[in-house]
Amino acid sequence: STETEAELISKVEVVPNYIPRDRFSHKGDFGHALVIGGSYGKIGAVTLTSKATLTTGAGLVTAYIPKCGYIPLQASFPEAMVITDRDEEKIIDIQFDIDPTVIGLGIGLGTHDDTIKALEAFLKTNKKPLVIDADGINILAKKKTLLKLLPENSILTPHPKELERLIGTWTDDFDKLSKVKAFTKKHKLIVIIKGAFSITVFNDKLYVNTTGNPGLATAGSGDVLTGIVLGLLSQGYHPTSAAIFGTYLHGKSADLAVLQCGFESLTASHVIEYIGDAFIDLF
Ligand code: AMP
Ligand code: MG
Repeated sequence: STETEAELISKVEVVPNYIPRDRFSHKGDFGHALVIGGSYGKIGAVTLTSKATLTTGAGLVTAYIPKCGYIPLQASFPEAMVITDRDEEKIIDIQFDIDPTVIGLGIGLGTHDDTIKALEAFLKTNKKPLVIDADGINILAKKKTLLKLLPENSILTPHPKELERLIGTWTDDFDKLSKVKAFTKKHKLIVIIKGAFSITVFNDKLYVNTTGNPGLATAGSGDVLTGIVLGLLSQGYHPTSAAIFGTYLHGKSADLAVLQCGFESLTASHVIEYIGDAFIDLF
């Protein structure tokens, strides 16, 4: 049918999707996530995403960043591995000798012409599952032919402005949702429409998240969401499940964090600190 199904997502809906850890598991079971992004002045964004990825349970995380980010990222996040681009300030040539399980793309990336070229060359050969955010989305919006290069079920996480660049303007919420549905069907993608009550859209279905609060209206909170979704994908969650469960966990982490720090003082780093409590709260 062409009718849209919408489902509200709260704890009872996500719990059955939780994958428990085997007592004998090792880090190889939870994947190696690669986070590609960053530019001069925006290395913190990649750091937040990488931290959120590992904190959500990925086995290993590597950040692919321009040279200027090497020391700050390593110093503030020792658990991460780092591969640097040959350029000092931006990504111009995506080359790596690791075999990642999943890839997060676009955080703090910038939209320099050379970065766009590097991204295009990368997408032409990449077959790994992708989570694409921020300037990754802005580049896709600028160069729509790149959409054809995305693997099926890639996850896009636009905030309202990024969504508008990607699908054009809308008249009202109904128009917005029908445009996103058409977009996800055409390109075989999953889109998380971010905001209060974020909506995961794929295959004509809408999953409306109920966790989260206005404390999340703060710098870097979207970068953390990308990391959480990537961390789930890395551990073997199906892309739709990673998107829906990840959005739930992100909001829940923020809901638990504001009990301690209040809406105004919530920062993206606080959200990462409470991911563990959001998992514990499931059971
Ligand atoms: P970004 O704009 O990329 O940093 O993403 C912001 C993140 O915070 C998204 O995950 C939004 O869903 C979330 N967010 C922003 N404002 C609110 C709000 N008022 N209530 C709940 N979540 C929010
Ligand atoms: Mg963002």
